[in-house]
Amino acid sequence: MKTYRLPSILLIFSLILINACSTNPVTGKKDLMLISKDQEVAMGKESDPEIVGYFGLYEDEKLQKFIEEQGQKMAALSHRPDLTYEFKIVDSPVVNAFAVPGGYVYFTRGIMAHFNNEAEFAGVLGHEIGHIAARHSAKQYSKSMLAQVGLAVGMIVSPTFRQFADVANTGVQLLFLKFGRDAEEQSDKLGVEYSSKIGYDAHEMAGFFNTLKRLQEESGQSVPTFLSTHPDPKNRLKDVGELATKWQQKLNLTNPEVEREAYLRMIDGIIYGEDPKQGYVENNVFYHPVMKFEFPIPRGWTYQNTPQQVQMAPQEGNALMILTLSQEKSLEAAAQAVLQNYQLTLVESEQGEVNGMPALAMVADQQQEQQTIRVLSYLINYNNTIYNFLGVSSVNDFNQFTSTFNQTMQNFDQLTDPSKLNVQPYRVRIKTIERSGTLAQALQQHSVEKDRMEEVAVINGMSLEDKVEKGALIKVIEREEASFSKR
Ligand SMILES: [Zn+2]
Repeated sequence: MKTYRLPSILLIFSLILINACSTNPVTGKKDLMLISKDQEVAMGKESDPEIVGYFGLYEDEKLQKFIEEQGQKMAALSHRPDLTYEFKIVDSPVVNAFAVPGGYVYFTRGIMAHFNNEAEFAGVLGHEIGHIAARHSAKQYSKSMLAQVGLAVGMIVSPTFRQFADVANTGVQLLFLKFGRDAEEQSDKLGVEYSSKIGYDAHEMAGFFNTLKRLQEESGQSVPTFLSTHPDPKNRLKDVGELATKWQQKLNLTNPEVEREAYLRMIDGIIYGEDPKQGYVENNVFYHPVMKFEFPIPRGWTYQNTPQQVQMAPQEGNALMILTLSQEKSLEAAAQAVLQNYQLTLVESEQGEVNGMPALAMVADQQQEQQTIRVLSYLINYNNTIYNFLGVSSVNDFNQFTSTFNQTMQNFDQLTDPSKLNVQPYRVRIKTIERSGTLAQALQQHSVEKDRMEEVAVINGMSLEDKVEKGALIKVIEREEASFSKR
């Protein structure tokens, strides 16, 4: 959670739909295209700040410089060199990469941690540029109109509450568009072509597809968009391999680059998994060590933490709780802003304290066509910043949730426990093998936790039984002890 931003007006509704044919830059064929190039560019431009705001940029200059340089090189020889491209690494542990119309490409730090060489990275980069070059998003827009694009991944929220949830903004929704199988196959081909053209060995793409497959099998949760629409990864692996050989012959690429060592050295120290600095949950308590607050999350509820807000919902999706920061300076002004932003009618309000901090609680209603939505708001002044809780349900369900809402909001408190304030993230560290043996033995030597051995094997793109030679590099994951206990 960092700053508060109002849900943006859905860009898509402002698009004027023109029924036009345009020539596809990749196939050379005429496509039925509902949006023009200018609209595509406008869409990307408007979405970019929303996407960056949603995830945050990953703070690592050399990684950002790397993706920008490789991206520009590749874009220049793609089928659409005329667009202005931007390439960014966003601060998310999820393994994914996204392309947004108009030339915007995003890789997560999670996917960067999972590549094992520059060639794998280049293959995925080419795949994403391929989506833009072949105008897949633009076509997809024409089909789906975003209506069914869900809210946060894995969180069920009644459609009537979505206005309260920031993630409903179009820019972020763009990322979760699913392309069809044909589009994915075409992008795989373009990934091979583009990465070969800048000198990389596209055979390595197959290795990374394998990593994705294992991730999918193990966690079942972080399913990258470019994997999910492929029912048969085996074919995908085979096709990419054959195509890579063809392109290398065609381009006379006799010594294609892989750059394993350079890549591993570059990502040494990259944050792996959740970054506790952005807030984390332990035993149903949410802790924010930077903003120094904590509050309980109701048992059985799912939560989602983004730079803008913490969002919580029960499995049934019939209620929603959100914590954001108000931009107002006083409790009264913040309360007014809530009423205004959500067009609420005040039922009652009360001033008081929450754990010694000045607070204002209010109940207000929103009249919808079919029903009335009731909202409990707590505005809490902590260190001259106003924290804004909203608890939302239908007026009929409201009594059932009142105590749950109160339990969370009234237990918002200052975080002072040093053991919670100083939790460090896990990082990928690159180690040199001292004795030849199996990967399992090497990981043991580097004190990788037992229950995480398989996970670390996956990020190495190896199995635990694989042989590793003396002098080779491997990834391990490590976490520094909390700094207060060190000195
Ligand atoms: Zn894709």
